[in-house]
Amino acid sequence: TLRLNAMTGWIMWALTSFFRQLGVVAEGMQTIAQPIELADDRDATELQLTDGRIDIRNLSHHYGREAGGLDSIDLTIAPGEKIGLIGRSGAGKSTLVKLLLRFYDAEKGVIEIDGHDIRRVTQDSLRRNIGMVQQDSSLLHRSVRENILYGRPDATEDEVIAAAKQAEAHEFILDLEDPQGRTGYDAHVGERGVKLSGGQRQRVTLARVILKDAPILLLDEATSALDSEVEAAIQSTLYGMMEGKTVIAIAHRLSTIAQMDRILVLDAGRIVEQGSHADLLAQGGLYAQFWARQSGGFLNPEAAE
Ligand code: ATP
Repeated sequence: TLRLNAMTGWIMWALTSFFRQLGVVAEGMQTIAQPIELADDRDATELQLTDGRIDIRNLSHHYGREAGGLDSIDLTIAPGEKIGLIGRSGAGKSTLVKLLLRFYDAEKGVIEIDGHDIRRVTQDSLRRNIGMVQQDSSLLHRSVRENILYGRPDATEDEVIAAAKQAEAHEFILDLEDPQGRTGYDAHVGERGVKLSGGQRQRVTLARVILKDAPILLLDEATSALDSEVEAAIQSTLYGMMEGKTVIAIAHRLSTIAQMDRILVLDAGRIVEQGSHADLLAQGGLYAQFWARQSGGFLNPEAAE
């Protein structure tokens, strides 16, 4: 029985550590946007971006159902163009972003970046070229430094700090101390680490994306978790980050995208209006309705001009 016990003990230990390892892997995968589920094409090439042009042709994706998702989207985004994406909840905004990152292959249609079908390039290279700031930014349960470095693992310490400063994160990072006594950039976040607020998590994510410096930026209501003072600071950081990049920004507050080159209004999976802020107001359609409703509501005064 002694040997049997030892054996059972060993098996239990092996199983526990196996699942712990599995947990670490799962956590790492979850964090940056989602697991790479789709396999690379056998002769997938590395996506080398030259301009950052996006061509979307006849794109439909209904998650295997009759309706919902996206329907027959045709869209060309010029290199360096800044697109704002708005629409009611469920209009298909996140679906578009997810298809661009190839979380799924679209049921119909094609997405090309600089003329390369995204199904024919490695997912690693696709995601290296796209910086993403999501609504709900979750972090790795590692040190703050590792979280920022994830954007570009070969960056120097100075570059990490510069990115954190730009994201308005440096100051609060210096004040961090985790339960193990590790401080500043060495402090661990999440489980058994420091609990960061939503706004702090978002700023660390921003630092990561700044460090990554990808030619295409996808922003999903990037400043939603921030209080208004921090938001104003971050907003200017975001505008700075956008320079020279192709940008698609999903926003619920119209003030954040009013300055974009072009605003797309999605409704029930289709692009129903597009143009500049002024164009769309003049059209008097859905955008003008959203704008009127928000101006009467919680928009800041300058937005109501
Ligand atoms: P929100 O502003 O609320 O984030 P959204 O415009 O981003 O909304 P999507 O998340 O793209 O909308 O959803 C578009 C439609 O697709 C909705 O009808 C939604 O229910 C459906 N949908 C989204 N994700 C899935 C999924 N994983 N499986 C099935 N249906 C989905």
